[in-house]
Amino acid sequence: MATALTDKLSRLVKEMRGQARITESNVQDMLREVRMALLEADVALPVVRDFIARVKEKALGQEVMGSLSPGQALVGIVSKELAATMGEGVSDINLAAQPPAVILMAGLQGAGKTTTTAKLAKHLIEKRKKKVLTVSGDVYRPAAIEQLKVVTKQAGAEWFPSTPDQKPADIARAALDYAKRHFFDVLLVDTAGRLAIDEALMNEIKELHAILKPIETLFVVDAMQGQDAVNTAKAFKEALPLTGIILTKTDGDSRGGAALSVRQITGAPIKFSGTSEKLDGLEVFDAERHAGRILGMGDIVALVEQMASGVNMAEAQKLAAKIKSGDGFDLNDFLSQLQQMKSMGGLSSLLDKLPTQMAAKAGSIDMDKAEKDMKRKEGIILSMTPLERRKPELIKATRKRRIAAGSGVHVQEVNRLLNEFEQMQGMMKKMKGSGMMKMMKRMGG
Ligand code: GDP
Repeated sequence: MATALTDKLSRLVKEMRGQARITESNVQDMLREVRMALLEADVALPVVRDFIARVKEKALGQEVMGSLSPGQALVGIVSKELAATMGEGVSDINLAAQPPAVILMAGLQGAGKTTTTAKLAKHLIEKRKKKVLTVSGDVYRPAAIEQLKVVTKQAGAEWFPSTPDQKPADIARAALDYAKRHFFDVLLVDTAGRLAIDEALMNEIKELHAILKPIETLFVVDAMQGQDAVNTAKAFKEALPLTGIILTKTDGDSRGGAALSVRQITGAPIKFSGTSEKLDGLEVFDAERHAGRILGMGDIVALVEQMASGVNMAEAQKLAAKIKSGDGFDLNDFLSQLQQMKSMGGLSSLLDKLPTQMAAKAGSIDMDKAEKDMKRKEGIILSMTPLERRKPELIKATRKRRIAAGSGVHVQEVNRLLNEFEQMQGMMKKMKGSGMMKMMKRMGG
């Protein structure tokens, strides 16, 4: 999913560059690509339809903000909508209940319920320092009870015995009672799954829910299920008030569409993803990061937005006009460049938002030093009079000493800044009407 969608979107961004506005027709083109990519990623059709409709509504007629091209603006909208559909941020297990906090695990057979129960036990013990008890209500498969016993031990939790001749409801009551009397913080209840949804199974788990009153009812679903995950999710959502989803086998899933489908169908947050068969193969699900990963662009959208909000459009346009008219680039322009950079949150904040590849390249730069350097330069220019800023050629030895004293630097630094400025001025003259001009124009909207 990641690559397909990213490639298509970045191609569209290129194609749409230069168009000033998001229009009905360029939105249609882009949405067609997004739709294809989502379907290829195995997102269920009704979910794709809803998603596209929401993006379209948000995109149509929108002015392109700041320096964004329409393509980038649309990527921004798609990415935000993906993140919103995926849910916000990170949500760990809720344990805010009178102990024991009961967690009910629901899902089809083979989804990974038993394995995930043990993974969760390990997570709660190690990360949240809880005392955890597990119990299996799967009276149809003795092997399942045995399996839970084994993995519970591996996880370092305690296992409550159950046998195939018991009723799941009785097991639940007994385990709850035991957990209370032995001061367990958490009771994890693994349940029976079937290969397909059936009514008896749903009634049984509803009864368990009524007895246990779990604080978390987690739907465990196999990411490889793709389109089928939707039907399963629908059935479980109708039967139970789901509080969260755990998406298993994401290590084997190359397409990732199930996350979007299941989240949209159930409305419940995806709390964890399973990333291996081992008990440490459980990751807290970060919705925003996942959405970003689907777009494969790091935080590029945030970066573009930050630039758009940070750049003072009026200033950028004035500068562009100046260069065009050949009016000359003076120290005021130099200062305003420095200040714009600062208003974008500084260099390191920009660097943080770059996709990893780009950031790695920029990583060799000492950001701290570069930022301090920028601040000193700003200070030097601010110590000049307006006349000096307009006519830097006036700045001779006496003035240099005054400026250095005023900004608390050595005279050499004032010299260095003036040299740098001269170089830049020379560059600006050469660039008049060429590449830089176009860039400024784009920045100026
Ligand atoms: P249950 O029937 O729902 O209890 O499913 P199990 O816990 O028995 O898991 C079914 C199979 O999926 C087992 O072979 C697990 O090892 C495997 N499994 C579970 N979660 C993951 C996961 O996140 N990644 C991978 N690769 N395998 C998993």
